[in-house]
Amino acid sequence: MKTKKEYDKNNVFYKIINNELPSKKVYESQSVLAFHDINPISKIHVLVIPKKQYIDYSDFINRAKKDEIVEFFIEVNKIAKEHLNLDDYKLVTNCGPKSGQLVFHFHIHIIG
Ligand code: AMP
Repeated sequence: MKTKKEYDKNNVFYKIINNELPSKKVYESQSVLAFHDINPISKIHVLVIPKKQYIDYSDFINRAKKDEIVEFFIEVNKIAKEHLNLDDYKLVTNCGPKSGQLVFHFHIHIIG
């Protein structure tokens, strides 16, 4: 049986949002934060997160308002194009521990 997951504030991205941990910020708005991955797998590897508390992609899609979801992905596009100057890039999100998700605050990897 599937048990309902709960957001655990004891994760690094929660601490980054609250300035309890440092990060190399690329972009910040009221609702979104983008920063360089601490262990990049390519020349440009940036993580984009909503500031609100969502565990993973599925949790985000299930609980966020439609406007919030659209706004988030528009921001991802803007960060890639305008802040990272990328024409070509890969977007990745790991959803759940078996997919390789290590940090349980929803995030998108921009890999350029
Ligand atoms: P995932 O496996 O999709 O949960 O990815 C988590 C990502 O977070 C990994 O690529 C890590 O290198 C990255 N990461 C972990 N801690 C930090 C941190 N303090 N600052 C920036 N990136 C981090």
